[in-house]
Amino acid sequence: MDYTSRLGRSFRLKTTRTITGVRRIVAAWKRAGDSIGFVPTMGALHEGHRSLLRKNRRKSTRSVVSIFVNPTQFEPGEDFRSYPRTWRDDVALCRSEGVDLIFAPTTRTIYPDGSQTTVAVGPAGDQWEGAIRPGHFDGVATVVLKLFEIIGPDIAVFGQKDYQQNVIIRNMATDLHLPVQIVVAPTVRERGGLALSSRNIYLGKPVHADAHNIHRALRWAAMEIHGGAETGGPLKRRMRAMVEENGFFQIDYIGFCDPDTLKSQQRLCAPLVILIAATCRARGRAQGRRYIDNVLVR
Ligand code: AMP
Repeated sequence: MDYTSRLGRSFRLKTTRTITGVRRIVAAWKRAGDSIGFVPTMGALHEGHRSLLRKNRRKSTRSVVSIFVNPTQFEPGEDFRSYPRTWRDDVALCRSEGVDLIFAPTTRTIYPDGSQTTVAVGPAGDQWEGAIRPGHFDGVATVVLKLFEIIGPDIAVFGQKDYQQNVIIRNMATDLHLPVQIVVAPTVRERGGLALSSRNIYLGKPVHADAHNIHRALRWAAMEIHGGAETGGPLKRRMRAMVEENGFFQIDYIGFCDPDTLKSQQRLCAPLVILIAATCRARGRAQGRRYIDNVLVR
């Protein structure tokens, strides 16, 4: 069936699970002079993903989305098996945003038996999230590099929510001379401030309401820095109190960092990025889940 995209172009959404399928389709588009934009996702698409798809659409003539829950970026004991999988809704959302191609490979396709080559992202992947989830960013970079190699995009769009991930992907693109432009789109939030996430469905009502404090604490600290605060210690203590107030969340880290290297800044002055991560301690499915967020102070 043909659909008409927001740009008025008539198109047909294609889906494929195979590498040869993607390569054939993308090669034909490239021969026709199209530019290829790519949004990697793990599915369970929400309004945050939608904003990435829109940005991608504006910046390229063909829009490719991958839906792949990547096992190598989950730690043992994390929610790889129970990660939400919502294929029909994902296809509908992609269709409504004028996506041209969904690539939804199997794990075997991405990691054939015997495959052993991986990306080592270096020290940027050992700090903050990487310190808590060892190997996580190697897994992310490995799958993103594979997807880049399979799809061959001109641009790739990522969300600011995963700030450290973006620094690492940019490093990889520079270090490995990848011919792809990395574009970052702003974080989409719920009304109360909590960043949209496929994992928000795990949160029960009171915990969900409390989760907004993660972003409130960030906003408060950013305002303090704009107002002249120069030392992180007092800010961290107050942020911790805000987030941990009701006992539903526990802070994993708060970082006042250089926006490019993510090195901790001793004296706070713009530009910097404030990184925060908190683990849910409330009983139920959300217990143990981690929520990350950040704000840029310019
Ligand atoms: P995921 O499916 O969670 O792996 O995320 C796929 C992409 O969507 C990543 O680049 C994320 O940073 C981005 N993303 C996830 N949540 C949001 C959000 N609330 N706002 C903007 N981008 C997001």
